[in-house]
Amino acid sequence: MTHALRNGKATQQQTKAHNDSLVLSTIYEVDEISRAAIARRTALSRTSVGEAVAELLERGLVEEIGRGRPSLGKPPILLRFSSEARHLIGVDLSGAEFRGAVVNLRGEVRHELSLPRDGRSGGDALDLVYTLLDRLVAEAEAPLLGLGVGTPGLIDFRSGSPVHWAVNLDWVDVPLRDLLELRYGLPVHVLNDTAAAAMGEYFFGARHATGNLVVIKSEEGLGAGVVLEGRLLHGDHFGAGEIGHLAFTTEGRQCHCGNTGCIETVASASAILRAARAAALADPQSGLHNAARGNLPIDMDDVLAAYEAGDRGIRQVVVEASRALGLAIATVVCTLNVQDVVIAGRVTRLGGALLDIVRHEVLARSLAALARNTRIEFSPISSHITALGAAAVLLHQELAIWPLRRSSTRAHHDGVPDA
Ligand SMILES: [Zn+2]
Repeated sequence: MTHALRNGKATQQQTKAHNDSLVLSTIYEVDEISRAAIARRTALSRTSVGEAVAELLERGLVEEIGRGRPSLGKPPILLRFSSEARHLIGVDLSGAEFRGAVVNLRGEVRHELSLPRDGRSGGDALDLVYTLLDRLVAEAEAPLLGLGVGTPGLIDFRSGSPVHWAVNLDWVDVPLRDLLELRYGLPVHVLNDTAAAAMGEYFFGARHATGNLVVIKSEEGLGAGVVLEGRLLHGDHFGAGEIGHLAFTTEGRQCHCGNTGCIETVASASAILRAARAAALADPQSGLHNAARGNLPIDMDDVLAAYEAGDRGIRQVVVEASRALGLAIATVVCTLNVQDVVIAGRVTRLGGALLDIVRHEVLARSLAALARNTRIEFSPISSHITALGAAAVLLHQELAIWPLRRSSTRAHHDGVPDA
C-alpha cells in the first residue's frame, strides 16, 4: 500500500485505492453494515462508497445479506464480508518443525500440517518447504490469495524478500519469494517470523487498545515483533526487534550469533529445555533426572511440573529465564513505551510461574510509571501466531485490509498503515 495522501499530492488513482481499502477494511471490521453506515464511518461520499462496494461485490469479497431495520424510510441493504471467498496459506519456518495452515480470510484455520525438520538445512530445508506447501495448496477449498512465509533471519521485506541470513537454516541470500512464486504461480510474501507473529496478533489476537503492540516470541530463538503507530516496524536493515541478541552478561553461554551471554541463550524456549535437562542430569534428586539420564524427551509441561513440585535445579532455570525475559521486555518498555506486550511461543506453557516473575522483573528494571501502565499477557493464538501472521500479511498486501479499530477510520487520513 502506498502513503497515498501524504503531503496532499495523491494522484486520483492512489486516492481511489486508499478509499477502496478503507471501505473494505470497514466492512471487514464489523459483522454487517449498510452503504450509508460505511459513508458515515469513513466520511467518504456515498458515490465513492457505492463504487467501491460494487467492485467488491463483483470480486466476491463482499455479499449482500438482505435488509436491515430502517431508521427512516426504506430499510437499507446490509453487506457482509465473505470470509470464505479466498483462502490463505501461512507457514512458520522458525521451529523444530515447519508448520503451515490453510486459513480463511478471518484467520480461521481450515487445515493445518506440521513436518519435523529433523535438522535439515540448506537445500534440504528448502525441499521440505516445497513438500509442506505442495500439500497445503492441495488442501485449499477456495481460490488462494497467496502464500505467506514467516522465517527466521534478516529479510529484505521491501525489495523482493530475499532471506539475507537465516543461520539455523543455513540460508544466505536465498531468493525465497522468487522461488516460491515461480513454483506456485501465486503472490508470495516472506517476512521475519517474529514480525509475522506481531502481524498475527495484531490481526487475529486479542483486541488491543492502541496502534502499538510488541510481541515477544520465545521458541528456538527470541525476538520482538513491533507494530508502532499502526505500522509493522522492519528497521533500516531489517533487524528491528532482534532483542534476543542483547548480551546481558559477558559470561554465559555462546550464542549462535557468535557472541556470548545473549538473552536468547537463557530465555528462548529451546535454551530453557536445554538448561532444564542439564540441571536434571546434575541432580539425582530431580524428578526429571531419569528422563535426562535416559536421554528421553523433556518438554515444557515436564519443566512446569518439576517447577511446581519444588525441584530446585529446575526452579532456578525457570527463574533465570523469566528474569532474562523480563529484562528484554523492560528494555522494550523503556525504549518504546508500548502499552501492550504479548508473549508467544512455547514458553507460554510455563503459565503463571513465568508470567509473575516477568511482570515483577519489568517493574523492577524499568521506569515504574511506564511499567505500571504496561500490560504483559500471553497471546491467545500462541501456537499458530506466526503462520496466522504470515497469512495476515497477504490480507494486507493483496487486499489492503488493515484492522481499523485502533487507528482512524476517516478518509483523508495520513496514517495509512504499511507492512
Ligand atoms: Zn546472540
